Amino acid sequence: MTTTLITGISSLVTNDEAQGSGPLGLLAEAAVVLDGDRIAWVGPASRAPAADTAHDAGGRAALPGFVDSHAHLVFAGDRTAEFNARMSGQPYRAGGIRTTVAATRAATDAALDANVARLVREALLQGTTVLECKSGYGLTVEDEARALRIAARHTPETTYLGAHVVAPEYADDPAGYVDLVTGPMLDACAPHARWVDAFCERGAFDADQARAVLTAGAARGLTPRLHANQLGHGPGVRLAVELGAASADHCTHLDDADVAALASSATVATLLPGAEFSTRAAYPDARRLLDAGATVALSTDCNPGSSFTTSMPFCIAVAVREMGMTPDEAVHAATAGGARALRRTDVGRIAPGARADLVLLDAPSHVHLAYRPGVPLVSAVWRGGVREV
Ligand SMILES: [Zn+2]
Repeated sequence: MTTTLITGISSLVTNDEAQGSGPLGLLAEAAVVLDGDRIAWVGPASRAPAADTAHDAGGRAALPGFVDSHAHLVFAGDRTAEFNARMSGQPYRAGGIRTTVAATRAATDAALDANVARLVREALLQGTTVLECKSGYGLTVEDEARALRIAARHTPETTYLGAHVVAPEYADDPAGYVDLVTGPMLDACAPHARWVDAFCERGAFDADQARAVLTAGAARGLTPRLHANQLGHGPGVRLAVELGAASADHCTHLDDADVAALASSATVATLLPGAEFSTRAAYPDARRLLDAGATVALSTDCNPGSSFTTSMPFCIAVAVREMGMTPDEAVHAATAGGARALRRTDVGRIAPGARADLVLLDAPSHVHLAYRPGVPLVSAVWRGGVREV
């Protein structure tokens, strides 16, 4: 095993209050030692131990790799025209998903795999070292299982989302589709998935249907997460909390009871500002959730219809400008928050024993992620101890 000393870090986000100041556990003039795929040592550069090789960060800021806990990457086709129409005044509707379903079913395995690989690389170049990936554009037994087999080649964080929308073949029989999703489709998908998810929204699945899907998945060993309260107020958030879901995702339209339920549970509120940006909708109120004591994660929701971005720095900048988050809170949500939403303790922090996922910025502080929006600041990325960028 080779050890690498990274020194010359002007400001290090550890997300460990035992190691530095504030919730980010900030350390000035820091150094980190990587040992194989793990972090072996963190502390002041003046006390750094020797290592086999050294890397001088040159006064750059460092932080944990971003943990993007919500993405839909197994798809084919292009929806530029739909985006363009929407930006010309037409509203977003959940049914647009069916456009991508048709293109995805028609695509080869190789084409789908190449698209996932391209997007994972694109995210990595922007500092993302852990990426969740959902199915949901197949909506047949074989197409959903295929999507998860392909996703599993790129990440262990695979999510069965057969309940994305009702498959077109079942347009007149949504109950029959839920039977498929909780029966034969689940049988085919469970071996390739860690999580189960549903789109609980008017036009997709109601609370009883979403509960049936998540409960059936949980019975097969999958842990629930839920698309909830995106397009309007609904029962999704409280269902997620009731079922002990790892995360309620979107949380755009919340009442006081939803906020209280999230704040008093282990269910993370995952906010996806790329979706509001790309649908010209009102942003979720992160300030309200944070002030109530909820755990907040930020993720991209990368998908071809409503949020075609892989950029966590973009999401951080929007969250700070539009959602009432401080730069510290947004960076925490994009790293430690995502890790919580995936129930991971090995990522989202820089501490001895954690996975060696580390990002260097061409900036003296993590605050530049919001202060310099749209600027490519990521200068180096280690993932599992391997220098990838
Ligand atoms: Zn989504």
